[in-house]
Amino acid sequence: MIPYGCQDITEEDIAAVVDVLRSDFITQGPVVGRFESALAGRCDAGHGVAVSNGTAGLHLALLALGVGPGDLVWTSSITFVASANAARYCGAAVDFVDIDPGTANLCPDRLAEKLERAERDGSLPKVVVPVHFAGQSSAMDRISELSGRYGFRILEDASHALGGAYRGAPVGSCRWSDATVHSFHPVKIITTGEGGMVTTNDEELAWRLSTLRTHGITRDSARMTGASHGPWYYQQLELGYNYRLTDLQSALGLSQLGRLDEFAARRSALAARYDEALAGFPLRPLARDRNATSGWHLYVVRLDLSAIGCNRREVFDRLRAAGVGVNVHYIPVHLQPDYVRLGFSPGQFPEAERYYEECLSLPLFPGLSDEQFAAVVEAVRLAVQ
Ligand SMILES: *Cc1c(COP(=O)(O)O)cnc(C)c1O
Repeated sequence: MIPYGCQDITEEDIAAVVDVLRSDFITQGPVVGRFESALAGRCDAGHGVAVSNGTAGLHLALLALGVGPGDLVWTSSITFVASANAARYCGAAVDFVDIDPGTANLCPDRLAEKLERAERDGSLPKVVVPVHFAGQSSAMDRISELSGRYGFRILEDASHALGGAYRGAPVGSCRWSDATVHSFHPVKIITTGEGGMVTTNDEELAWRLSTLRTHGITRDSARMTGASHGPWYYQQLELGYNYRLTDLQSALGLSQLGRLDEFAARRSALAARYDEALAGFPLRPLARDRNATSGWHLYVVRLDLSAIGCNRREVFDRLRAAGVGVNVHYIPVHLQPDYVRLGFSPGQFPEAERYYEECLSLPLFPGLSDEQFAAVVEAVRLAVQ
């Protein structure tokens, strides 16, 4: 089975991890900070705070932005559940904004309408979390403009989008947001096994994030209440977590980051080849925003099911039977039983639901060979004809 995504680990990546295993520190040594600086530098952001996974990054970033009980967080319904769950960890309530049917990103027009209604109802969100779906940036200029008008903060979920850009700025630069979360899960753009990072230009936010990821503890006497008791002394200033990334993981991340340009070029070349090879098939790729350069985590197509004459399940089964590990990204979060229990219901976000009926993710990863690529295209041709 050709998977839909797969990590790409070289002997150099392995050697970087082994070097750390032979060093004095395998966790919380010097490599975490080096990885943070390198990734923040690559994103053109002031600070990077490494965390144990992307979900932990979303949780801490929302906490650091002041989200708590009584607050509302809005995100896209077409995302991984973590984008929404993180708000609930903070005790906040979640609501969704329907997608743009072309890009499958949170639709700025739907957002503007929903904000107008929320202002009248007194139910404005504290934070909006745009998800850069499949690797293509959301319409950050419009979302940022609306944030100026309605006073919400912006947290970008860039789990798909490392290596991408928007209006000339790298994704993660936070030019239009308060903070950006990255994920280094093996199917994502670069990997540390499990891992994540929050980038931000706000120094105080970065400090709060770094404290929250380690139990809410500081060793900085300038931050303490009262005098330090001595060199051993630390203070817990608020309730935090153990959400740290290790040196072992950071060494892999740093080595992988050195290959980001290579990964991005390969993913984007494969996407262009898919565009060409699938032209004329009864399906269409996601619309491209001309202001965005995608990081190409996923190559998603929407099937023209009336032309194909069957449902998505049939096409999915045919492709799996042909050894092509297609996948579905994503089941609309508001339709998950745990969200239906909270009061969400089918029909609330019609574009997300329509998208879900038609979407299919084709294999896309740097190591996809020419033979595999040709096999995927041929299998798709047979499955949709
Ligand atoms: C992968 C992913 C996450 C969560 O990242 P983890 O590192 O797996 O915790 C969050 N949001 C989106 C959109 C993702 O794809």
